[in-house]
Amino acid sequence: MQPFSYIEPRTRDEALDLAREYPGARFLAGGTTLIDLMKSGVMHPTVLIDVNRLPGMDAIQKTDGALHIGALARMSDVSGHPAVRAHAPGLSESLLFAASAQLRNMASIGGNLLQRTRCVYFRDRHFPCNKRDPGSGCGAMAGENRNLAVLGISEQCIANYPGDFAVMLVALDGAVHLHGPDGARSVAAADLHRLPGQTPEIETVIAADEIVTGVTVPISALSRQSHYLKVRDRSSYEYASVSVAAAVEFEADGTIRKARLALGGLASKPWRFERATELLAGHRPDDASALARLADGALDGARPQSGNAYKIPQARAAIGRALQTLARRHAETRA
Ligand SMILES: Cc1cc2nc3c(=O)[nH]c(=O)nc-3n(C[C@H](O)[C@H](O)[C@H](O)COP(=O)(O)OP(=O)(O)OC[C@H]3O[C@@H](n4cnc5c(N)ncnc54)[C@H](O)[C@@H]3O)c2cc1C
Repeated sequence: MQPFSYIEPRTRDEALDLAREYPGARFLAGGTTLIDLMKSGVMHPTVLIDVNRLPGMDAIQKTDGALHIGALARMSDVSGHPAVRAHAPGLSESLLFAASAQLRNMASIGGNLLQRTRCVYFRDRHFPCNKRDPGSGCGAMAGENRNLAVLGISEQCIANYPGDFAVMLVALDGAVHLHGPDGARSVAAADLHRLPGQTPEIETVIAADEIVTGVTVPISALSRQSHYLKVRDRSSYEYASVSVAAAVEFEADGTIRKARLALGGLASKPWRFERATELLAGHRPDDASALARLADGALDGARPQSGNAYKIPQARAAIGRALQTLARRHAETRA
């Protein structure tokens, strides 16, 4: 591991000053992504700015219209929080189905959003990777790509975003709050991560000297009827091959009034599908033709590689299952 300095600021402004002063610095939260990648030589910050002692950044609060979750709140605290479980159950599920209990106790929401791809060619510096070493090539395209992206890919990169929480956050129209040298700003969660294009090394819209301070999730009938379905090779301690973040508001007769949909495991960012309400409103969640139109639209433009075409039928089936789970839960609450 390359030598580095470690600094533990006590205020947000001090942390931001350090980030400006040391361009090679990185913020350290739980360290469950960053330290791993430093040990394998993939990331080599010159300075670690430990943000864990910054005050007020680990709160989880509910106001009338929203859930506010600090960037330093731990995954386990957020998943088990009564207000999150009541008002955004899908958000709680997205965290509970992630990693392991030990990791969830350690890992923060800010770090979770900014975790890096699990593409083996990125994580092993003996392979070429345009994301890790721009211009070196992409080992995955002609190599092992079973778990990689099929949507939004480029000639430079087919890595996928591995996180779960961000997918649900996008489906629920969440916002991510940042603080930098010019003050505070917020971005829609859907705009946080980028497609690879010609610059796969630039993964988000966050500048190096900006800190994530928290996220906000609007509370509504949709968020209260949200569900995160994660499909994976084994039922625990595994990343998604495909995931579905869905939220549905029903009419009294069980037909759909509004719907939100985002897919995980398929692209370098959570894949938001904007036309869910348009395609589902007035239909029942078991209406096979409406579901087929929804899946066609959401997966439009998919470009499978040699090893990952299975993700397309898997995603189609998962979309149907997620909506039917929401319908069943809705029927149970009315029984
Ligand atoms: C074995 C294993 C299995 C896993 N399985 C899953 C899974 O199934 N699903 C899933 O979603 N995740 C999974 N993860 C990933 C895990 O959830 C992340 O490693 C964790 O959430 C990262 O949070 P952290 O606080 O440890 O981040 P860190 O490692 O401290 O930081 C990660 C990145 O975020 C940056 N950062 C951290 N906080 C801030 C901030 N406030 N502002 C700006 N930048 C910041 C850091 O500089 C770094 O680049 C798994 C991890 C492991 C090791």
